[in-house]
Parts: sequence; C-alpha cells; structure tokens
Amino acid sequence: MKTVHLHQRPFQCLLTPTQIADRVRLLGQAISQDFAGRKPLMVGVLNGAFVFVADLVRQLTIQPEIAFVRYASYEGMQSTGKLQALLPLNEQVAGRDVILIEDIVDSGHTMQQLIALAQQEGAASVRVASLLLKPDALQVPLTVDYVGFEIENRFVVGYGLDYDGQGRELAGIYVLAE
Ligand code: 5GP
Ligand code: MG
Repeated sequence: MKTVHLHQRPFQCLLTPTQIADRVRLLGQAISQDFAGRKPLMVGVLNGAFVFVADLVRQLTIQPEIAFVRYASYEGMQSTGKLQALLPLNEQVAGRDVILIEDIVDSGHTMQQLIALAQQEGAASVRVASLLLKPDALQVPLTVDYVGFEIENRFVVGYGLDYDGQGRELAGIYVLAE
C-alpha cells in the first residue's frame, strides 16, 4: 500500500486496515471467552489507544465498563520513576477485573507502572491488551496477555499512534521508511 508523509518524512504501510480488523476481531473473541459472565473494567491509555479501544470493545460479546486514563509522557516518568496522572481513573478499581489497553508496548515502563497502580488500588485481577508489541525494545519483565502484532523495533504511526501530533487518523499502521 501507499506511502504517506508526516512532517516531511515518509512512512510506509506495515499493517493494512483489513489485517488490523481481522486481528482485533480475534482479540475480542479471546477476551470475551476469558471474561465470559464477568464485567471487566477496560481502561484505555490515552491518547494513542483511543482507536484500538473503540474497535476492540465493539468485537466483545461481554458487557465491560470502559474508562480512560492519561499520563504524562515517558520522559517525565523516567526521571521521577512514577507516572504523573493527567486524567486519573475515577472508577472504583478495588475488587474489579481490570484490563489495561495500550496502543503499543515499547520499553514496557508505562505498562509496568499502570499494572502496579491497579494492583495498589486493589484490583481483583489485572490483564494487559496491546495492539502492538516491540519484543526487542522491552526493558522490564512484563506479560502482555493480548497482543495484536509483534513488530520490529521501528517507529510506527497510525491507528491512533502519532508522530509529533500527526498521523493518528490513519486507518492502517505505517512505519518510518528512512
Ligand atoms: P513504553 O513505556 O512501553 O516505552 O512506551 C509506551 C508508549 O510509548 C506508547 O504508549 C506510545 O505512546 C509510545 N511509543 C512507543 N513506541 C512508539 C512508536 O513506535 N510510535 C509511536 N507513535 N509511539 C510509540
Ligand atoms: Mg500510549
């Protein structure tokens, strides 16, 4: 498929909308099976996960609760060792089955902190779903229970992911082509 330019840099299609839709449908089926009869609290991590969450929840045959959190960027977290909540979670987490939803797990630091937070708040269980995973970039021990695609350690955009504010609207996933 085609090349797009964001901030004058070329990106090539890595995953088509059809490939993504097929995979997201399977993830939805797996989560529906694993949480049959339950009402998990699904927590999307803004901004990047908004498209994935929207597509994923519409493939479910269970009735989850859906919420979003937003945290300051990874740099800030590295310096302080703690995530700074920009949009904290108001829903009661204690006793709930929580599914954290990310667009991409890279170093794993963000997700590691979010899992710890959910556990501190008394979640009954914590699972992780991420559309993308870069296994070679992972710096912490982390289990991603529901992975859409494992990809190379290259910068990607589209399907919610941005490059400096651009590209979130792209229906496919694109990789920097230089
Ligand atoms: P981690 O804490 O796992 O290193 O970082 C996860 C976050 O970094 C993601 O939620 C995303 O915001 C950002 N990120 C990591 N890799 C990429 C990438 O290839 N493209 C984009 N657009 N963001 C990325
Ligand atoms: Mg993110």
